Amino acid sequence: MQQAEAVIDLDAITSNVSHLAGLTSAEVMAVVKADGYGHGAVPAARAALRGGASWLGVATLTEAYQLRDAGITAPVLAWLIAPGTPVDAAVRRDVDLSCATLGGVAAAAAAGRAAGRPARVHLKIDTGLSRGGSTADGWPELVTAAAKAQADGEVQVVGVWSHLACADEPGHPSVDRQLAAYHDALGVAERAGLRPTHRHLANSAGLLTRPDTHFDLVRPGIACYGLSPVRGWPSAAALRPAMTVRARVLISKRVPAGAGVSYGHTYRTERPSNLAVVPLGYADGVFRAASNAGQVWLAGARRGIAGRVCMDQFVVDVGDDPVADGDVAVLFGPGDGGEPTADDWADVVGTISYEVVCRLGISRAVRRYV
Ligand code: PLP
Repeated sequence: MQQAEAVIDLDAITSNVSHLAGLTSAEVMAVVKADGYGHGAVPAARAALRGGASWLGVATLTEAYQLRDAGITAPVLAWLIAPGTPVDAAVRRDVDLSCATLGGVAAAAAAGRAAGRPARVHLKIDTGLSRGGSTADGWPELVTAAAKAQADGEVQVVGVWSHLACADEPGHPSVDRQLAAYHDALGVAERAGLRPTHRHLANSAGLLTRPDTHFDLVRPGIACYGLSPVRGWPSAAALRPAMTVRARVLISKRVPAGAGVSYGHTYRTERPSNLAVVPLGYADGVFRAASNAGQVWLAGARRGIAGRVCMDQFVVDVGDDPVADGDVAVLFGPGDGGEPTADDWADVVGTISYEVVCRLGISRAVRRYV
């Protein structure tokens, strides 16, 4: 193996998506933004398509073009498009555009005119996340503009969509409120003559916990990679984490009791100890907040990070157990070999598994696909 590697189990992605597809009668859009949540957008997209996804979702147009450049022909929706971003190539390359403003619809319509065929758009309504999407006040005007551009043959309104804020907290009242607001928005669109084939609202949490949010299309991201946004949710039990990050011990050494370890000597050995240096650090996405707190699997047990995580390396205290140069330390994985999981790391540093895989997956650890 390499000095450090993120091993990506593509079969796990395929079977996760196939499991998710079995939970719904809606089509599945696998979300592969942020380089497939650190797993590699193109291999992750292909694995998801094998598992039954029929759409791919990304944030930026650059991410969408990366999929097209790789020869992926499945429908792709891009939803984070800043004003002034050229969208002509998106229309030429069959990338669906999210539109939440009159300017967005106008830009899509102009690109449709230039391409000689309608730009495929998904109108986005903000139903309560207060992030992207049209306000309810602006929605009738947006819908009217889109309907006119559609009548003029410049756009095709493929979708009406929104995004949930708190679906990962089952029973949270905001989900009902967002659902009601979404139904209202669909009603306004319908009265303007729009008949979108793809109404979509659910992320992984909506897909897992709220069938009434599924509509025509669901947009799971994290669950495709085997991590559940809702810990312990029964239908998430079949998911298998696809990423394992591991590294070879750079050097191991015996130190006396009282040895100060790493910058600032925030850790001191209580007794003579075997230390192992692991060649990944905060420049690779290993959280500095995991200093004296995180664990790895090494020499047959979970071991604590001793002292501060440095830019390129950290130290593990193995106590009296033997450890050798070149031994493999597993930072996280599915957890069935005793190693910590991405959720364990998230708990230690006060974040979510999403951030763990996004950060570590793009590290200097070489990605290896199995
Ligand atoms: N849809 C949109 C618009 C998103 O931004 C995301 C990710 O944040 C997703 C779907 C997928 O969310 P999750 O990874 O929680 O399933």
